[in-house]
Formats: sequence, C-alpha cells, structure tokens
Amino acid sequence: MVWKIYSLHQIRSMARVAIEDPSNFWRDKANYITWFKAPEKILEGDPPKDKWFPGGITNISYNAVDRHLPKLRNKVAFYWVNENLDHEKEISYYDLYQEVNKASYVLNQLGVKKNDVVSILMPSIPEAVYFSLAVHRLGAVLAIHYVGLSEETLSYRFNDCGSKILITSSKAFRNGNEIRIKDFVDNVLKSHTTPIQKVLVVSRGFSDFNVIGNRDIIYEDIKPKGKVYVKPTGVEANEPATIYYTSGTTGRPKGLYHTNGGYIIALNWAFKAIFNPTENDTWWTISELGWPVWPMANLYVIPVMGLTGVLFEGYIAHKRDLFSKIIEKFNVSLVWSSTTTLYTLKSLGDESVKSGDTSSLREILNTGEPLNAGAWSWLSENLPHVKIADAYWMTEHLYPIAATPYGLGEIPYKPGSAGIQFPGSYFLVVDDEGKQLPPRQKGYIVLKPLNPAEAKMWNDHNYEKLLKQYWSRFPGYFYTGDYGYVDEEGYLYVLGRADDVIRSAEERIGTLEVESVIVSHPQVAEAAVIGHGNNIIALVVPKQGVMVEEGLRNDIKNYCRNAGYLVDKIIFVKRLPKTKSGKIMRRLLRAIINNENPGDISTLDDMKVLEELKEALKEQL
Ligand code: ATP
Ligand code: MG
Repeated sequence: MVWKIYSLHQIRSMARVAIEDPSNFWRDKANYITWFKAPEKILEGDPPKDKWFPGGITNISYNAVDRHLPKLRNKVAFYWVNENLDHEKEISYYDLYQEVNKASYVLNQLGVKKNDVVSILMPSIPEAVYFSLAVHRLGAVLAIHYVGLSEETLSYRFNDCGSKILITSSKAFRNGNEIRIKDFVDNVLKSHTTPIQKVLVVSRGFSDFNVIGNRDIIYEDIKPKGKVYVKPTGVEANEPATIYYTSGTTGRPKGLYHTNGGYIIALNWAFKAIFNPTENDTWWTISELGWPVWPMANLYVIPVMGLTGVLFEGYIAHKRDLFSKIIEKFNVSLVWSSTTTLYTLKSLGDESVKSGDTSSLREILNTGEPLNAGAWSWLSENLPHVKIADAYWMTEHLYPIAATPYGLGEIPYKPGSAGIQFPGSYFLVVDDEGKQLPPRQKGYIVLKPLNPAEAKMWNDHNYEKLLKQYWSRFPGYFYTGDYGYVDEEGYLYVLGRADDVIRSAEERIGTLEVESVIVSHPQVAEAAVIGHGNNIIALVVPKQGVMVEEGLRNDIKNYCRNAGYLVDKIIFVKRLPKTKSGKIMRRLLRAIINNENPGDISTLDDMKVLEELKEALKEQL
C-alpha cells in the first residue's frame, strides 16, 4: 500500500467511514500477514460475538520469523541488554528462526499441542521471545505472567488459564537485586493446587536451584544442538492466541483473550498509523513481560513487520543515565513507554534524558494513564527533536481508542489529551442516560467497538458477568469505565476512572484535573486525589530532597485554589500505591481512609506500601 499523509479532517472522516463500513476498512489490511488459507470474509456477526477474517488460516510464528528469511536473514531482530549495560546480545532474524524452532521442538517433545495453554514467567530476555513464538508456532495459547505476583495470584492465574506447562527462568535481575524465580515457583506449586505438570527452566547458566524429578526440566540440557525445523501449525483467525489479565486497578483482574488473526492485523495497522516504522528503525518498548505492551510490541508487531527491537532486563531508574545511554547504544528511534516510566524519568531529573546521545530518537509513545501536561512539557523541552505521542487503550480493547497517529499525518499534540478518534474504533462521551454530550461537557467514555482487536472473555463462566460489566451500562455501547470530555476539535481528554470521580457540591471532578495541578508545583513529583464525602484529599509525593513542612502544604493548597479546586487535606507520602503496570490504585486509598475492605489488590506492585500509607494517614489525616 502506498502510504499517504492525511489531514486532521481526513483522519476524522476515515474514523467515521471505518465504523460505518468496517469490512471495507479492514479488507486491504488483511494482507499485513501471510495466510496459509485466505479468509472467506472480513467480518461476521455483531460485537461482542463478532468474528474477523473467518476461515482464514495462519500462524503468528511463521509471520514473525519464517517469511522474513529470504530478505532479512542477517538483519538484527533483537538486541538484548541488562541494566548494568555489561551484558548484551544481538539476535539476527536467522538466529531467531533457529532459536524459535529449537524451543518449539522441545515444547513439542513435552507434549504441547494446538490450543493447549502454556504459561511463561521470566524477565525480558531473548528466551522470552523464543518461547512465546514457539508456543504460537505450535498453535498453542500463550499466557504471560508478571514476575513478582504473589503466590496466591499466580496460582489463581494458573488455574484460571488452565496451563499444564510453565516456562520459567532460574533468576531475574532488577534494580541491583537477584530475583530467585525458580525458588518462588517451587513454593507456589508446593503450597497450591494448580494444573501445572511440567516446569521448563531456562537456567541462564546458573545451577543454584532445586530440580524436582519428573516435574522440572532444564532447557539447556535438552535443547537440540544442531538445526531443527518444526512446521508451523495453521490456526483459524478467531482461535485464541494469547490470554491477558487487566491491571487490577479498579477491581479483580479480568482474564481475556486475543486472536491469532484479527488481533495481529489490527496491531500492525495501529503501529503503522502511530509510528509508521521504516526498515531502519530500532524500537524499544520499556515494559515488564507481564504487561500486554511487551508482547504486543515484541511478538506481534516488531518481528511481524521485520523491524529491530530492543529487549531490556531491569529497572529503568537503576541508574540515572540508563534511558539515554540505551538509546545511544542501539540508535533507538522509537520508544514505547508507560506513563509511570516517563514520570520516573522526570523525577530523576534532566540528566536521565540528556546524558546519552539521543539524536536517533524520533518518537516516544505514552500508554497507561493520562500523561499530565507538566511531564509532556518537560519531555518536549529536554528532547526537542522528539515527537511525543499518546495512545489510549485497554486490555479489553487492545486497539487505540484515541491517539496521535503521526504516521497518518501532521497532528498537533494537545498536552493532557489522549488524541483524536483513531480510525477503526469510535469513542463518544455520554451522560448518565447514555446521551451524547457536546464538546467540553464531562461524562463517560463509551465505544462503538467494531474492530478485530476486541478481546473475548477467556472463561465462559465469566461471559454473562462481563457482558453485564461492559455492554449493559449503556445499551448499544461498550463502556470503558473512564471519565472525560472531547474538545471542539475532537480531542479526547481522559480525566480518570469513572469509579474515582469526585462528587463535590457543584460538579463532578475527574482525578486528573486536580492531580495535574498539584504535580505542576515545582516541589511535587506525584499525586493522587480521592473524594471523601464532599472533601478532596490529596496524597502527595514530594520530589527527592524536598523538605516536607506546613508551608509546602499551604502552598499546594493555594495552587489548587487558584486553579479552582478546594483541596481539604494534603498528605505527604513516600510513594503511591500502584499496580504492576504502574497505575495508581485510588480505590485502595479510599478503602484505607474509610477503614473498608479494599477488595482484590493482588496486582499491587509492593504490598509494603500498605503499611506505609496507613502510617502516613494515621499521622496526618
Ligand atoms: P482493571 O480493568 O483491572 O481495573 P485497568 O483498567 O487499569 O485495570 P488496563 O486494561 O491495563 O487495566 O488499563 C486500561 C486503562 O488504562 C484505561 O481504561 C484507562 O483508564 C487507562 N489508560 C491507558 N492508556 C491511557 C492513555 N494513554 N491515556 C489515558 N488513560 C489511559
Ligand atoms: Mg479496566
């Protein structure tokens, strides 16, 4: 397809047309992947029971590896680097092909078949890519879990996804610490009943862990020495490819699946529109393995497009200069980052983006939470040659709801906004009755989702419940659970979660409205606000080295008052409660303040934060 540059007006009408005639919109995009058998149709049925490219037979691993060999054999598929920058690897497309085949061969020997679920628990190392693609090569279903979930949560997920095999690594390294993953797995499987029968361990050259006979196999011991070839298994476009769990910000994480055909096509189109990558681009996705962002980039787009990716094991703030040094080292041109990572860079200071040579960098994409205007202007001032993009999506709908698709045209960025209608999905802002609201009026964000990247529910027993959760609140629409408004030019502003909206006497206030004012204070790093009756309570993390005293408290309150918000209490804390994917769990703050049961907090990044918060609230509330 010849790529054309569109005007804002044309992109808007493309979004309208795409939703009116989705089959037509997606027809040519079916060619982004190679089919073993072409689909019979583009679309069949209505959401949430819609089927995309039905009858089409394909294989993700074939698309990510085999088909590139004639042209890209020697091209670097991935670089891998650790957080000390003292270990690195370079993997060509030919290496990737060899390694994926070896991993597939071993999984085949272990009995993995089409539609079986295989779990993976490891850091961002090359084997994570090899085994994930090997799972897809066999037509099996991938379930990647976060390193650092609690024993209970992990065992729940093994049971929920039903995997009999777990692929793990002996250890991971993060922020200078050794994480003994295999020991942790031993404990989980000893203390909980799960369907896991075999544990395949990537030893990484270590041997200081237990090997349990009949159950554990060390990959390096049985890895084929010579070349092997495993034929990719054809799968129908609508069969499950991968299971994801939502972040657990607003409640118990929900298990969903995405498909082998439509999902991959939709993601590839989304990234053509956002990044418009060229063959010379090097793309680094700063994400843990367990967040859908990691597989989306490193399995379903970078190798499928034949690009070069960077895998990074560790913590971005382990050293102040890590971000820019990695960009310099690999000439990174595209970065996909979580909002929390961008905030972390800002809190590390200008050096974090200025120590290394970042002249190769052309775009940073934010995902995860609304990027506050302060962080955007800090990035723009320190990286003036870099475009900052945004894409707002959710696990249930892994296709941008709103974005700044610079790949499609010159789109002005508006700080604080998630961007414009993204062709292929369609958002509206509605009131309590589901009536569309005019520009600038705040309401609920709903979707007319009609694209191949809407997730299906993994477990049938959840189906009715989830229909109720997403499709019944506003009949005819999919409800995102988010709150916001649209401006006159069609830009969407996500103001927070609908559950977190603060009902003050006169109006409803989205959490982001107040938080973005607080973080614009020069001595503040992060903030989270919650409603408490008619009052607003703000939890504030001061910047490193800032003296916490009454004057600062009053100063922040004045800042808010000048912006039109009355904040009743400011509570200084060391850190905020965040999920593994870096999202603020405001419901936990509410529960602590109201002395209520917080519900499922299984994805809380560090349980120790609970005591810290209780302590701070006891002293300051
Ligand atoms: P749960 O559904 O379990 O409560 P979650 O909603 O945080 O958790 P995810 O699917 O990981 O789980 O996150 C999707 C949510 O993240 C969106 O509903 C939205 O609130 C927020 N989000 C993601 N990207 C952006 C963005 N670029 N701008 C604003 N908000 C975003
Ligand atoms: Mg959600």
